[in-house]
Amino acid sequence: MSKKLFFGNWKMYLSDHEAVELAQAYVEIASECDGWIVGAAPSFTALERVSHLFDGSGVMLASQDGFWEEDGAFTGEISMETLKELNVKFVIVGHSEQRQFRGVTDEMVARQVVSALEHGLTAIVCVGETEDEKVAGDREAVVRRQVEAALAHAEDPGHIIVAYEPRWAIGTGEACTPEEAVTVHALIRDLLEERFGKSGAKVPILYGGSVNGENVDGYLKEDLIGGVLVGGASTSKEDVKKIICGT
Ligand code: PEP
Repeated sequence: MSKKLFFGNWKMYLSDHEAVELAQAYVEIASECDGWIVGAAPSFTALERVSHLFDGSGVMLASQDGFWEEDGAFTGEISMETLKELNVKFVIVGHSEQRQFRGVTDEMVARQVVSALEHGLTAIVCVGETEDEKVAGDREAVVRRQVEAALAHAEDPGHIIVAYEPRWAIGTGEACTPEEAVTVHALIRDLLEERFGKSGAKVPILYGGSVNGENVDGYLKEDLIGGVLVGGASTSKEDVKKIICGT
């Protein structure tokens, strides 16, 4: 059985000091329990310190975002090249909070994906519908549009992960049921195969949205779910241990 993926998205929850402490816990937990590829995305300011801690530990460093341009007058942005220098291996793009609060569009996500791949980073492409879109019966159309747009110019499916993260499930405690998630994962798998042929079958698809130590098993038993992208619970050592080690 191939390893499941666990990525912690630490969002803006932690001070740099707390991020360093949590990173140490991730290294310990990952060394104690097998069966997972473990990664974490701290804030930009903590990347360098966490990078040193993860170095040689097998825990992967991810970024919560990354800009598509190489350099220049882009206030507040961080380039993929800089992320790479910090030993970042994965970059989250299209997170619903970026779409919601910073107006990130499908086209921007597509540019981020291209830039990430050009720099040898793996893009974790987040897609998912809002509550209103779900109620209107538009879930499938939204996910289709977001996946197709994000991957429109991507050359290398070997460096892509898709995360299905319904916006209504993020940070709400109202997780999508595993059965519901599987239906959407099946759609995403079809889209990946349409886009990349056989190689599309190998792209991991994660579920994210109010996953924690108590509900994770429901997702893990589904073959179509390649792992989890976890926000709030990923900042709790207890939840991370429960997810990775089962205890
Ligand atoms: C996320 O932000 O990617 C996420 C899944 O958040 P939460 O687990 O808190 O719902």
